[in-house]
Amino acid sequence: MHLGLSDEQELLRDTARAFVDRTCPPERAKEWDEAYHFPPELIEGFAELGWLGLPLPESAGGGGGSAVELVIIGEELGRASLDVAQCYILTLMAALVIDGHGTAAMRADLLPRIIDGERRLSIGMSEPDAGSDVAALRTTAVVDGGEFVVNGQKMWCTGAGLSGTDILAYVRTTPGGKKHEGISAILIDPASDGVTLRRIPTLARHILGTYEVFLTDVRVPADRLVGPLDGGWGVMLSGIDLERVLISGGYVGAAQATLDEALAHAKSRIQFGRPIGEFQALTHALADLQTEIDAARLLVHRAAWLHSVGKPCTREASMAKLKGSETYVAAARLGMQICAGMGFSTESVMSFRWRESIVAPISGGTSQIQRNAIARSMGLRGY
Ligand SMILES: Cc1cc2nc3c(=O)[nH]c(=O)nc-3n(C[C@H](O)[C@H](O)[C@H](O)COP(=O)(O)OP(=O)(O)OC[C@H]3O[C@@H](n4cnc5c(N)ncnc54)[C@H](O)[C@@H]3O)c2cc1C
Repeated sequence: MHLGLSDEQELLRDTARAFVDRTCPPERAKEWDEAYHFPPELIEGFAELGWLGLPLPESAGGGGGSAVELVIIGEELGRASLDVAQCYILTLMAALVIDGHGTAAMRADLLPRIIDGERRLSIGMSEPDAGSDVAALRTTAVVDGGEFVVNGQKMWCTGAGLSGTDILAYVRTTPGGKKHEGISAILIDPASDGVTLRRIPTLARHILGTYEVFLTDVRVPADRLVGPLDGGWGVMLSGIDLERVLISGGYVGAAQATLDEALAHAKSRIQFGRPIGEFQALTHALADLQTEIDAARLLVHRAAWLHSVGKPCTREASMAKLKGSETYVAAARLGMQICAGMGFSTESVMSFRWRESIVAPISGGTSQIQRNAIARSMGLRGY
């Protein structure tokens, strides 16, 4: 495993850092969050930099980049906020599923428009009664002529309400068998008859928004099937390691930025005639946190490197997700304690970090589910 970055990767990191400074510094990300505003300049910027096609093959107009490059971008965007990092990662993850499993016509139609920033994707796995146990999903899709007729409800579809978005929904096409069987992936246009969205009020994730999706007799053309009929579980699993690795890059960036902000406050805030950062109670806590963040970063880069060379990384991706998300929570908690009253004011960026950190060990598979996956890799049952 090569721990250093190549010259090109260093340049990519510098470009991403400059993009965040220019387009989405944390103060601006907080304003967007508070205004529930999805800024077009963010996606336009991603498209101009060629990032939206980065991991897609050159034959599809992409850049042929690997998980390592995506993690570099994700980490820098995480410095702005987790929501900003998700604005990048979410569509990309679903686009990779389309590239890997979609029909030639679907790829030719959708991928160039995703690369241009014109189209976006939301992912619909979860349901009211299918969270961690996502294979328990109950939304049905029945074949009727050249169409599926879809009925049910999806939960937590991040970004589903944004214009130009399709939902990559996992639905049950053959009920009655084992729960992982009989699931299919289909693309649903939220503008279709029978689709109703409700924005879920949440502590954060306000830039993308998170939606309940009600589906009543929604007719979806049969050619919107992604991957084999009843093969949706394999389609879902095919992208899950990479998703965990990429979002973990975002956690590390967000945690590092949180620490940097706490550190700046600890160096400038004077109490008892000296900077509070000189009190050993805080010095050691900050040193411990930097060590934790560095450990998380190494786990993320290890998993990204394994993925980039085509090696299995399920265990390593879960470790990166577990450590990265928990470290962001720890960073925000310490940051609040160091900023104290200033942090508790909702005018502070720290209060925004704290609000949005809470979801890190929940969405994309909880910390307990990551521990179960790691335990399984150790020969334990872990369920
Ligand atoms: C802001 C946000 C955005 C999201 N975006 C999306 C999205 O875009 N698309 C999508 O499909 N989903 C999305 N989700 C859903 C997310 O993936 C789920 O919230 C997550 O998988 C957990 O499911 P749950 O909330 O139903 O919790 P539950 O599954 O009900 O879990 C409750 C608690 O029980 C624990 N638990 C459950 N099972 C076990 C077990 N076997 N062992 C140990 N502990 C267990 C959990 O760890 C948790 O602590 C999002 C969620 C949030 C909050």
